[in-house]
Amino acid sequence: MITRQFGVPVTSTGAILRRERDLGTPLGQETAEVLQSGGLVSDKIIIELIEDWLRLHGSHGFVFDGFPRTLPQAEGLMSILARLRSGLDLVIWLEVSEQTVLDRIAGRLQCGECGFTTSSSSAQFANRPVCPYCDGHLERRNDDDLSVLQTRLAEFRTKTEPLACFYEKMSVLHRIDGNRDREGVFSDISRLIEDKR
Ligand code: AMP
Repeated sequence: MITRQFGVPVTSTGAILRRERDLGTPLGQETAEVLQSGGLVSDKIIIELIEDWLRLHGSHGFVFDGFPRTLPQAEGLMSILARLRSGLDLVIWLEVSEQTVLDRIAGRLQCGECGFTTSSSSAQFANRPVCPYCDGHLERRNDDDLSVLQTRLAEFRTKTEPLACFYEKMSVLHRIDGNRDREGVFSDISRLIEDKR
């Protein structure tokens, strides 16, 4: 939605890793097991991915989804941005209850081609799981499973949650209630982006 509305290119480290896995590349093979288990891929691999992506696509702004997830990644990003003479305008912290996470993951359908995400509770997609943007197949992720989710939540609490403090100190963090529908959440995010333009 951010890309469509503001024309800022977005990348998701999870989506890159899933694509590498599906293509069977050496990187995909090396990281597939970690993805499936719900653990985190090494900081070194993730930082290299982001640096390569930024050099190719980041000259007119960028949005990261699912990155950074650890303190070394956040520090790595600051060094890369300093080298590229760029910076961070906003960090958006979507606050959701554990129940919301469980409900969304239980019904999540994702396009294997472009990453469009929706819910199987939407009748339109439950009956015809085809992406409205690229005609790709909407499917469940193989890590959207209750036991893997427990690992992902534990990783979040120990390694990712401390980043809120890191970005609060830099005065770039904005907390948004993510328990609402996507239009409500997007309207708050849009307002933050508009204020930065
Ligand atoms: P996501 O699509 O953001 O839910 O990520 C799916 C999986 O990819 C995660 O559970 C991790 O195994 C891996 N992954 C994605 N982004 C990162 C990251 N920034 N650091 C470490 N592992 C990541």
